[in-house]
Amino acid sequence: MHFDVDFSELKNLADKISASESKWTLRQKELSPVERFKIELAEGIELNLSDVAVNDSGLLTFKDLQVILYIPDHGVSLEKALKVPKFGKKFHIADCKTLREMRLKRRYERYVATNDMTGNFKIYGTDDFGQKKEGILRLKVCQNCLESLNYKNFRNLQYIQKKRVVDGFDIHEFFSKYSSYFEYLPQKQETESFGYDDKWDQISYDYRQSKNWECEKCGISLKDNKQLLHTHHINGVKHDNAKENLKALCIDCHSKEPGHNYIFVLRKYRQLIASLRSKLKKSRIREQDKRLLNESFQWNDVVDMADPAVCGLIEMCRFHKHPVPEVGVDIFHGNSVYAQAELAWPDKKIAVVLLKDNHSDLMVKRGWKVYSVKEAMEYWFA
Ligand SMILES: [Zn+2]
Ligand SMILES: [Zn+2]
Ligand SMILES: [Zn+2]
Repeated sequence: MHFDVDFSELKNLADKISASESKWTLRQKELSPVERFKIELAEGIELNLSDVAVNDSGLLTFKDLQVILYIPDHGVSLEKALKVPKFGKKFHIADCKTLREMRLKRRYERYVATNDMTGNFKIYGTDDFGQKKEGILRLKVCQNCLESLNYKNFRNLQYIQKKRVVDGFDIHEFFSKYSSYFEYLPQKQETESFGYDDKWDQISYDYRQSKNWECEKCGISLKDNKQLLHTHHINGVKHDNAKENLKALCIDCHSKEPGHNYIFVLRKYRQLIASLRSKLKKSRIREQDKRLLNESFQWNDVVDMADPAVCGLIEMCRFHKHPVPEVGVDIFHGNSVYAQAELAWPDKKIAVVLLKDNHSDLMVKRGWKVYSVKEAMEYWFA
């Protein structure tokens, strides 16, 4: 396209103030490679099983983004699956027994990796007359994946409860639970912005200030990180801003409120919050008080405070009657903190970290046993 515009007037003005000329062009806003890749991934990318990586928690990743995997080709079973969804192939969310067997058998079926969170999968196959046909199906999640992550304590549930977890499996909730593993979050995030009052920003600021920038659930102060303290509507009605309906919650506590799966929390924020909590706890609870708390209360507290990505492991530890771990433990050398463990049994020098890195190597050198979540699951509960 070409425009003829007379800029002489502007040129004269510019000359008057002796401004120098700089060249510029009109361009469409360009997407970053990550943005572009996220859009592609939401559409689904065909690949081989060997292209998919497994992270420290046993989650599936492709180019550092969390993915789920499925086989779109349903062959002659397509019609049957479209009629009765339970006959569809299961989608995978973790490095499960099924995928490991597939790899061993060197089965090279085409998989599709996606981070689409709607739960609708594009599948294809052939109809009774051998014609190629496509369809959209709500596939079910693979139970071996749920087992391997101990998702929602899956391993220790009764048949009926397991069925409930499978039928109610929500990809959005799942991604949100493990968001601290990933630097980039899937697609565009929905926000809570609809339904808010115009004056919300001010109301929220004033309310949090009146609470001295402290989380009303876990008690930490976020005076230095105000953006990590949210104002939550207790009854869920966004324009009901009566003081009794508001609650100041840190982003971690907020993301754990029912129906708040849309809040994704980055690892660095969870770690910061964990560290603030453990400092607060040390200053508040003396050893003898701690012993007075009963064990089930202590375990619930651990689940409440821990990163949701380690909850599967915590439930296994509770079920197998391990001692209660500490959450978000700063690891010291002298007076300086050089690492943080998600879970730790400091008296036994055992720690679980989200990602093993050179800090964990340093811990090992200093006598700690350090496990990733996946390793702990395999070593302790194989
Ligand atoms: Zn699986
Ligand atoms: Zn909190
Ligand atoms: Zn809320």
